[in-house]
Amino acid sequence: MSRIAALQQLLEDEGVDALVVTARSNIRYLSGFSGSAGTLVVGAAGATLVTDNRYALQAPDEIARHGAPVEVRIGPSGGFPDVVDLVKTAPVVGLESDHITWGQAARFATALPGDTTSTSGLIEGLRERKDDAEIALIESAAGLADAALADVRDLLANEPTERAFATELEAAMRRRGADRAGFETIVAAGANSARPHHRPGDTPVRPGDLVVVDFGAETGGYRSDMTRSFVVGTPNDRQAELLDGVLAAQAAGVAAAGPGVPTAEIDAACRDHLTSIGLGEWFSHGTGHGVGLDIHEAPSVSASATATLAPGHIITVEPGVYLPEVGGVRWEDTLVITDDGARALTKAEKRPIVDLHTA
Ligand code: ZN
Ligand code: ZN
Repeated sequence: MSRIAALQQLLEDEGVDALVVTARSNIRYLSGFSGSAGTLVVGAAGATLVTDNRYALQAPDEIARHGAPVEVRIGPSGGFPDVVDLVKTAPVVGLESDHITWGQAARFATALPGDTTSTSGLIEGLRERKDDAEIALIESAAGLADAALADVRDLLANEPTERAFATELEAAMRRRGADRAGFETIVAAGANSARPHHRPGDTPVRPGDLVVVDFGAETGGYRSDMTRSFVVGTPNDRQAELLDGVLAAQAAGVAAAGPGVPTAEIDAACRDHLTSIGLGEWFSHGTGHGVGLDIHEAPSVSASATATLAPGHIITVEPGVYLPEVGGVRWEDTLVITDDGARALTKAEKRPIVDLHTA
């Protein structure tokens, strides 16, 4: 069944006659259109993308390549009157409540003679399990990120600032063929490594520091996500304990992943290992998340998550520990769930020691 047809089925089940799709990733998933302005209307009769003149050539091209049964209507910037025109005869019009502002919803409610209703997670649900083409794009992004890291990892010995290393890594991904970085690259050195989402700044990477590098590539709209931890030179005993302990916890999480497994069990596998070695209290975030057109999407992998894995799910497994006095360590891979287990798409070696330059 095509993606549009699958959505039409869901809309029928929900009693929604037409859905106004406003989330960029949802529009791209359904139509192939990657532009930054446009609204997709999907009803029982078909699907129409409303966009403006800037995309008069790009939109039909991308939709044809995607093979989606979507018509294109070029309207003035914003396209609100065209969208209203397309849905005005529908008795119930769905609006994506997670992706529309209060003001936009109010405008639709005022402009439409029928009812508006909020929908949530309909297209995101369809996006959870990836098809072979989507998996191939994520695997390609992961491979570019692996290769880029191999290109630049030894530069950590040159005492670059966090920002300079992030720039080198992102440039290497682009040189390798990535469309862009999959998200804002994290490079966290020394004390900053104890902040899980540190933003790279002017702190230099010093010999003896822990360094956490969390990054990914984007290709064809799909992203990869990977974290590797490093020490320039020889880790001290406490650093080595963190590096090895989190690595074993991550391996336990990866080993637990497979079809039919609740994602909460993957979180428990990582957390239980860290607790058994006295580091559990320093694992301060969830274990992972889905990855695809968005860097964070369903299913969630955490203690409170309710999802159960199935073939085609793409998730990350990324336990970390963060000690204010020592620094932080995180290991992360992006996995695809297969018919009989899970396969890592990110494959960069987990070799934390960066050799010091010996002049
Ligand atoms: Zn990450
Ligand atoms: Zn992640």
